[in-house]
Amino acid sequence: MIKRINKQCFNCGEEFLPKTVASVYCSHICSKKAYKQMKRLKNEAEIKGMADKIPESRAFLSVPEAGMLFGISKRTLYRLVEQGKIPSVNLGTRLVRIDRSVMEGIFGPARNLRQSESVPKKKLYSLEKEDCYTIGEIAEKFQISESSVNTHIRKYSIPTRQIGKYVYAPKSEIDNLYNGNNFI
Ligand SMILES: [Zn+2]
Repeated sequence: MIKRINKQCFNCGEEFLPKTVASVYCSHICSKKAYKQMKRLKNEAEIKGMADKIPESRAFLSVPEAGMLFGISKRTLYRLVEQGKIPSVNLGTRLVRIDRSVMEGIFGPARNLRQSESVPKKKLYSLEKEDCYTIGEIAEKFQISESSVNTHIRKYSIPTRQIGKYVYAPKSEIDNLYNGNNFI
């Protein structure tokens, strides 16, 4: 028989006599605590992973996105939006969007780590007619008024181009501005 020697508990650091050679925790309580901690860390890593996928240039966030970026539960955010405590833009049924700058005003900077990287981002848009929407098309596609579209374009410095009597804005920039990840 192998003589067991005292080990240090991975959770509390106390010495204990392990029940089996594989034991790493002194007690059930410590093993439970460690498991919970691990689960929490795993969740945090997952949330961070998802938050990192949200482009910094996206001005309008879906509620789940805003929740991830600002560390607030979806449920709480939906409640605050419903109560009107956080202003939102409604782009149609189940398409509530929150202005990122509004969130920053209330909760401080988003916890998107990419914000700390000072790598200048290349704008990859095209102002060719076929790569653009007209203001009217944007208004129709995203169910908002043309004047709101114009306001957002100015506010978020989206490039535009006038051809004839129409003003064009790059599809890529507009889609990024208004489109959240609807599947989350
Ligand atoms: Zn312990």
